[in-house]
Amino acid sequence: MRPKKNISTLKLHHHKHTAASQSVRIAPPKEVLLPMTMHAGAPAEPIVAVGDYVRVGQKIAERGEKGFSSPVHATVSGTVTAIEPYTQADGRSVQIIRIESDGKMEKDPAIKPPVANDVEEFLEVVAESGIVGLGGAAFPLWGKLAAVRRNQIDTVLINGAECEPYITSDHRMMVEHSDLIVKGVEILRKWMKSKRFVIGIEDNKPDAIVKLREAFAGDTSVEVLPLPSIYPQGAKQVLLYNVTGQVVKGGQRLASLGVIIINVSSLAKLAQYMEDGMPLIDRIVTVDGSAVKEAKNLVAPIGTPIEHLFEQAGGLNCEPGKVLIGGPMLGIAVKSMSEPTQKATNAILAMTEKEAKTFEPTACIRCGRCVANCPVSLNPAALARAAELEDEDQRFIRLQEYSIGQCIECACCSYVCPAHKPLMAQNLQAKRFVKKYKAEHTTEGRN
Ligand code: SF4
Ligand code: SF4
Repeated sequence: MRPKKNISTLKLHHHKHTAASQSVRIAPPKEVLLPMTMHAGAPAEPIVAVGDYVRVGQKIAERGEKGFSSPVHATVSGTVTAIEPYTQADGRSVQIIRIESDGKMEKDPAIKPPVANDVEEFLEVVAESGIVGLGGAAFPLWGKLAAVRRNQIDTVLINGAECEPYITSDHRMMVEHSDLIVKGVEILRKWMKSKRFVIGIEDNKPDAIVKLREAFAGDTSVEVLPLPSIYPQGAKQVLLYNVTGQVVKGGQRLASLGVIIINVSSLAKLAQYMEDGMPLIDRIVTVDGSAVKEAKNLVAPIGTPIEHLFEQAGGLNCEPGKVLIGGPMLGIAVKSMSEPTQKATNAILAMTEKEAKTFEPTACIRCGRCVANCPVSLNPAALARAAELEDEDQRFIRLQEYSIGQCIECACCSYVCPAHKPLMAQNLQAKRFVKKYKAEHTTEGRN
């Protein structure tokens, strides 16, 4: 049952300057850089060689063998110039394929609409589409839909919340391509046998709500649900609770509740792919921030260097203090303008020095704001103290006691902390520590 009161956390300034900005397809960049790790799961494995000529939509890397994975496709036509290691903005060293564009955007002639005769064939064609969660998680879409093998999926929550400030790429997808969202629902109805669809949209996007209500008029299985514009409304656990009243526990699969959550742009891309067979090769990226001359929504080939995107937005009006891939709450700061966009890149932001000002953390004053603003009722201050314990056994025990695994990595705690403590960053590190500790101690146990 839907709760009377939403889990409410942060009311942020929306800064959705590009909400009315029609998305514009850009001229192809001179080069794209395509990491093999643009998705959750095993890295993709290159199947092309340096010197090969590739066309738009051609598969250039297979799904990795281990676990979930996703293929990678050429996003421009041109020549493969390198397959090499690359250090990303998040510090990870990954393999990339570089393609020098010939500017022609020549389509792979082998591309045709996929055919599926049963649900297994459907999952296989979705896996080959390269579509992942475009809202940020980058979980391979086929992996999510594969829940249908084990669970009856009664309800599909379509996530159109887009709760981070500045970002309007899902918003534009809903306004400009409501037809694809209708087709996406039909596809899921056919293959997932789902009976109920709820499209959750923050109420700061009234035109998207109107558009989708018109598109689904008369279809009683689809509800277009306005949600309060409160961060982090689009987080899986928050959306689930606010729409259905259900709670997913740490380690529990959403599908075991008969629910899956799909980002609205991922659904539109699925519909497009089932219609024409073109895999995921581009997406809408919001280009904004106080250092950007003309904030815009641009349709860009995946792998486009961010420098090219800023140029397409009229360039920068000053030397930026900070450049982010993603939104201001969860985005990653980048040092190099040659950093490429990835499948889940919904925005790039360039902030002035003034806006980008950072503060040195000071001692916790036990004000409790982080606790009051955690959407999943954790105690971030206690987690931070636990993470600082020298003794690894004690650290592990305390982090488990304070339920580190439940942290949804939303950054609400860091945002409200008057001591400017990097609480979410500490939680990410603590999660890595817990994973490593468990792996080491399990191995020791077996030996
Ligand atoms: S918000 Fe910051 S200062 Fe306040 S209790 Fe939490 S960690 Fe301490
Ligand atoms: S980052 Fe984790 S601990 Fe901090 S507010 Fe979000 S869920 Fe709570």
